[in-house]
Amino acid sequence: MYIAEKITTPDLQQEDSGFEIVLRPQKMEEFVGQNKLKRKLEIFIQAARERGEALDHTLLYGPPGLGKTTLAHIISREMGAKIQSTSGSAISKPGDLAKILTNIEIEDGDVLFIDEVHRLPAQVEEVLYSAMEDFQVDIIMGKGVRTRSVKISLPHFTLVGATTRAGLLTSPLRNRFGVVSRLDFYEDDDLYQIVLRSARILKVEIDKEGAWEIAHRSRGTPRIANRLLRRVRDYAQVKGGGITNQSIAREALRILEVDEKGLDGMDRKILETVIYKFNGGPVGLKTLAMAVNEEPDTIEEVHEPYLVQEGFISRTPQGRKATKILWDYLGKEAPRDKQGELAL
Ligand code: ADP
Repeated sequence: MYIAEKITTPDLQQEDSGFEIVLRPQKMEEFVGQNKLKRKLEIFIQAARERGEALDHTLLYGPPGLGKTTLAHIISREMGAKIQSTSGSAISKPGDLAKILTNIEIEDGDVLFIDEVHRLPAQVEEVLYSAMEDFQVDIIMGKGVRTRSVKISLPHFTLVGATTRAGLLTSPLRNRFGVVSRLDFYEDDDLYQIVLRSARILKVEIDKEGAWEIAHRSRGTPRIANRLLRRVRDYAQVKGGGITNQSIAREALRILEVDEKGLDGMDRKILETVIYKFNGGPVGLKTLAMAVNEEPDTIEEVHEPYLVQEGFISRTPQGRKATKILWDYLGKEAPRDKQGELAL
């Protein structure tokens, strides 16, 4: 419930920067990779359309830049519906959410996209429960003795929630999503297709080897592939006569400090700190964050997932630990016990 007088307009999430919108796939068939997830969504979308119903509330989770926002837009388009976007951090009060939900422009079947849905405050979540389940919200009208509660029916909308931290969602909220899907890091082959597609749209002249070099160093993430493509294009324009080939791409990526494994300066700083300052760990997230001068959330959401996936560090109850892969990567001998067995 919320006090109607106190409604403030939430900042609707700023649209992505211009180029991300240009490069964003519009249809499911343009969305590269994530095949299992795509097939699943296609079936649910088709079934909902055939029944003339809204799609079930859908939760998409995974590291940043893997396509959650893109998929939310594709879902609305494939449903032939409109989309309204906001972010968990922009909705601070129940009234903010109620205002969005009671917006007369939302119709049956439309999509409400809430990015970073784990950031919703607890009282806002409670309003969301009845909105998701019963398609209604309670509004408190008036003041003092004239206060009364009014139930407002909502259109049968589809909530598409996105989060980098599914573990932080409360279970009542999580349980109200009919579809829960994880996005995984992309294979190099998929990123290669994404780089070629983006190059076509941005009219970047790139050969196969140049595209492969970028794809291979994009740490499994389309947003990074697109960002590197733009930076490499700049370099090619100035130094390579406009054509991006493998050696131009390598040279540009060297200057950008993106290494063969796609690790950037902060990734390497984290890895080096675990080894050199903490002798391989275990080291707690906050201590590590302080040592590298970065926010713990950024380490956990942006850097760590890829470093764990590539096997450089492991997460243990005591903290983050270096693996043999990391000791080898930094050219150091991993510690061994008296019997000569690895002591990690
Ligand atoms: P997230 O919401 O998960 O942070 P976005 O949906 O904003 O990620 O994706 C970032 C950018 O990466 C998009 O602008 C889009 O151009 C590109 N992208 C993401 N996924 C794909 C994909 N599967 N195929 C092609 N491009 C993609």
